[in-house]
Amino acid sequence: MKLTDILNQGKLTLSFEVFPPKSNTVFESVKQATEKIASLKPSFVSVTYGAGGGTSKYTLDIAKNIKEQYGVPTLAHLTCISSTKETVGKMIEEIKSAGIENVMALRGDIPEEEAKEKRDYNHAAELVRELRKNGDFCIGGACYPEVHPESENSVSDIRYLKEKVDAGVDFLTTQMFFDNPLFYSFMYRIREAGITVPVLPGIMPITNAKQIERAKKLSGSFIPARFERLIDKFGSDPLAMKQAGIAYATDQIIDLYANGIKNIHVYSMNNPEVAEKILENLSEIVGK
Ligand code: FAD
Repeated sequence: MKLTDILNQGKLTLSFEVFPPKSNTVFESVKQATEKIASLKPSFVSVTYGAGGGTSKYTLDIAKNIKEQYGVPTLAHLTCISSTKETVGKMIEEIKSAGIENVMALRGDIPEEEAKEKRDYNHAAELVRELRKNGDFCIGGACYPEVHPESENSVSDIRYLKEKVDAGVDFLTTQMFFDNPLFYSFMYRIREAGITVPVLPGIMPITNAKQIERAKKLSGSFIPARFERLIDKFGSDPLAMKQAGIAYATDQIIDLYANGIKNIHVYSMNNPEVAEKILENLSEIVGK
C-alpha cells in the first residue's frame, strides 16, 4: 500500500520508526523488537538506512518482514551520498523485488574522509529523480523546521526543499523538535513557498538524559525551559525519566493533533515499550 493513500484518508495517523541491526549477530534481537512494534499496528513503520549503506540488506529484510508478517505498510529509507549510480540502481531493483512501494529518499550525512569530486550524488533531490524514473514509488523526503545544519539560512533551505519536492516527493517527515511553535512557523513558511505535500512532524520521546545530548548534537534542536526542568529533575532516575519523557512526547502529539495536524511520526528507536505507552495514551485519538 502506498503511504499517500494512508496520509490523505483524513483520519489521525501515528507511525513508528525502527532502525536495522548493525551486524548479523544482533539481527534476531532487533528483528524481534521491530516485530513487537509492528504488532501494535501503527499506520506504518519506517526502517532507517545505515550511514554508508553497509547494512542496506537489513533495512529491506526488516521492512519486508513487517509488511508480510504483520500486514503493516513499511517505508524503506535509502541514502545516496556514499553510493554510486550503479549501487543505487541495484538497490532500487532490490526494493522492488522485496515488494516495498514506499521509499524515504535521503542524501545521508557527508562522510568526512571522502573527496567531493568523487561523488555521483550531492543532494537528495537527485535520488528522488532516480526513484521517479525507475519505479512506481511513493517517495518521502526529510525536512528541518530548525534548518538543516549545513544551510546558510532558512530561506535557502526551504528553496532547496521546494526543488526536492518538485523533483517528485509525495510527503515530508521532519527532523525531531521539542517545541511545537517552531513546527507551526515552519509550516506557514513552506506553504507560502508553495510546498503543498503532507508534512509529518517527527517526535522523539526522550527517555533518558543521555539521549537529549545526542539529540542536541545531531539536530541542534532547541530545548524549551519546560523540558529542561523536567530533565534536570528526573534525568538521574531512569524510570521517572522514561515516564516523564513519554508524557512530554504525548503532550506534543496531542497539541499537534489539536492544531489540525493529521499524520505524526514517532522516532520509537526499536523500543516497543515506548511505542506501546504512547499508543495507549492516544487510544481514543488515533484512527479517528
Ligand atoms: P538534502 O535534501 O540533500 O539537503 C541537505 C542539505 O543540502 C540542506 O542544507 C539543503 O538545504 C542543501 N541542499 C539541497 N539541495 C541543494 C542544492 N541543489 N544546492 C545546494 N544545497 C542544497 N540518515 C541516514 O543515514 N539514514 C536514514 O535512514 C536517515 N533517515 C532520516 C529521516 C529523517 C526524517 C530525517 C529528517 C533525517 C534522516 N537522516 C538519515 C539524516 C539525513 O541523511 C541527514 O540529515 C543529511 O545530512 C541530509 O539529508 P537530506 O536528505 O535532508 O539532504
